Amino acid sequence: MMFHIIENDIARLDALFASSKRIAITTHTRPDGDALGSTTALMVFLRSFYNVDTKVVMPNAISQNIAFILPSNADNLYLDFTNDPDEVKDWMNSSDLVVCLDFNSFSRTDGLQPLLEASKAPKVLVDHHLNPDEEAFDIVFSTPDISSASELLYEVLMAMPQVNGDATKLPKECSYALMSGMTTDTNNFANSVYPSTLKMASDLLAAGVDRNDIVSHVYNEYRENRIRLIGYLLDRKLVTTSYGVAYTILRREEQERFDLQEGDLEGFVNIPLQVADVKYSLYLREDNDFFRVSVRSKAGYSANALASRYFHGGGHEQASGGRLFFPQDISSPSEAETYVENILKDYFDEDR
Ligand code: 5GP
Ligand code: MN
Repeated sequence: MMFHIIENDIARLDALFASSKRIAITTHTRPDGDALGSTTALMVFLRSFYNVDTKVVMPNAISQNIAFILPSNADNLYLDFTNDPDEVKDWMNSSDLVVCLDFNSFSRTDGLQPLLEASKAPKVLVDHHLNPDEEAFDIVFSTPDISSASELLYEVLMAMPQVNGDATKLPKECSYALMSGMTTDTNNFANSVYPSTLKMASDLLAAGVDRNDIVSHVYNEYRENRIRLIGYLLDRKLVTTSYGVAYTILRREEQERFDLQEGDLEGFVNIPLQVADVKYSLYLREDNDFFRVSVRSKAGYSANALASRYFHGGGHEQASGGRLFFPQDISSPSEAETYVENILKDYFDEDR
């Protein structure tokens, strides 16, 4: 089903943008390509068409692998809470409008959460996750039936009076960021592609966006250790089970051995789904006092159910994430494998 943008919401949004002096644009923790693409696109759009000062406020740093999305002259336009909490607080407290992109609840923003909760400014949501916390926002654009927050923002911007359905009117760096966010969230058109997604890609391509440039930044600029570590994980660490679930647990010592950095294993969790019998893939990466968990599933199987039931998380039906805490959920990190085996028994044997 197509998502319909409500005209009245666009008129209200335009009025809010026009009457604001300062706008804070925020997104989820550990921003990915869609988070950076959508926030960047909105910032460029606002700076081009409104007399407003606006910054993107990130819960934490932008990782190197998505930095190609940043516009020129990006200095000072992005704030990072972990790096500069005071400046972030000032910006949040002095903004007349807050726009939230690519997350469904303030709890997904780590250190920004208390600032968002305390903020009296009107709030706008543009998101594509399940179960949005609608009461927290004044205007909500949200549907899970779309590729990405970047695609949904594209629909919103196309409906704005400055653009009026003509993608060539979008500023260049805005279009580039939107195409980048959509490309990363669909894993280059492998997942969550709708007719509207291809229409967006087609219109942006016609408007001059350099898609080859985006694809080579996303897929051909990894560090060598990525493919070596993937080789090691697939050969030595991947476990497949009779439930059609594959899981991979990456311990801290292995991350150090391979000098793993943020973003190096982006997309790894999808690989085990290439096996015919594998319906779900789980990837657990040890952090300070928890494992970061990524869950993916084939159509007809719910990654979201596993992530929300057993890992305090959620996300999308086929792509979700969460955390496994120690010592709360498991007494020590070495118990992760037993935990996974037990939840699989619980999920597949006991209740169906
Ligand atoms: P990834 O596996 O790429 O980190 O995340 C996949 C999806 O799951 C993303 O859409 C993300 O929003 C969601 N997700 C990841 N981690 C968490 C989490 O800790 N809590 C919730 N609610 N969602 C998460
Ligand atoms: Mn997204």
